[in-house]
Amino acid sequence: MILFKKAMALSMHLDNARKKNQTIGFVPTMGALHQGHLALIEACKKEADICVCSIFVNPAQFNNPTDFKLYPSTIDKDIEVLLKGGCDALFLPAREEMYPPGFKAKQYDLGYLEALWEGQFRPGHFQGVCQAVDRLLGIVEPTSLYMGQKDYQQCLVIKKLLALTDREAVSLKIIPTIREESGLAMSSRNLRLTEEQRSKAVALYSTLGFLKSSLPVKSITGLEKEGAALLQRSGFNVDYVAIADADNLQPALEVNNKKLVALIAATIGDVRLIDNMPLN
Ligand code: AMP
Repeated sequence: MILFKKAMALSMHLDNARKKNQTIGFVPTMGALHQGHLALIEACKKEADICVCSIFVNPAQFNNPTDFKLYPSTIDKDIEVLLKGGCDALFLPAREEMYPPGFKAKQYDLGYLEALWEGQFRPGHFQGVCQAVDRLLGIVEPTSLYMGQKDYQQCLVIKKLLALTDREAVSLKIIPTIREESGLAMSSRNLRLTEEQRSKAVALYSTLGFLKSSLPVKSITGLEKEGAALLQRSGFNVDYVAIADADNLQPALEVNNKKLVALIAATIGDVRLIDNMPLN
């Protein structure tokens, strides 16, 4: 694996690969890597000739400064994980490399996606995500881009970003959520949970399971309320428990024949977690 700290060096390296007609798969991350990230790398390695990962904790996407400050960093371990996972190139830029002096943040027209769910509770978050991913895509120019279904809404935002920036040729691959044995979705933020919080956090998964199994027999609004109550009973502060159209994330009013997804965002202690589950 080659470690790149400079955008120009990585870009030149990948130009050479492209000249040899090699395909480039890209896995952007914020580090503190776990099995979920590894699933993306595995998929990338299967499909692309070269697997590029990036680690950058992007300040622009944190609406909460404490969350940014406390975001876990395990870079030495991450490098070991990437070596074992077979990553070919790691991009590890400093903040100034991502956002050089004079860098002008664009405003991306994400439409209603920005006002819903995560957009509503984390104002500016998706603009920040787009800012970093747009910059990374400009450097890596991948053939395929690997993202986790764990961040369901982010996947839709990135799809929109690819369209907005004329990158429809980049193939977006969405990889299913990897979970702990308990059902808790793997997340870098799990490192911040105490043992007690970690065992309570299983309620996220059991609530999603409850929503899925009860969907055929209960009303959507009733289920959302019951889901929120279940989480509160486990000690969560709930931002939302929502059932939405799986294609566009608009709130679902009735089941009909539509594909639906349940979405949850809730905080335990001071750790905010999200999870989701396709329902039908
Ligand atoms: P992050 O480092 O949290 O920004 O995540 C980097 C990428 O890994 C994103 O595309 C996430 O959706 C994905 N990811 C994070 N957790 C998981 C998981 N448990 N299963 C699958 N993908 C994940």
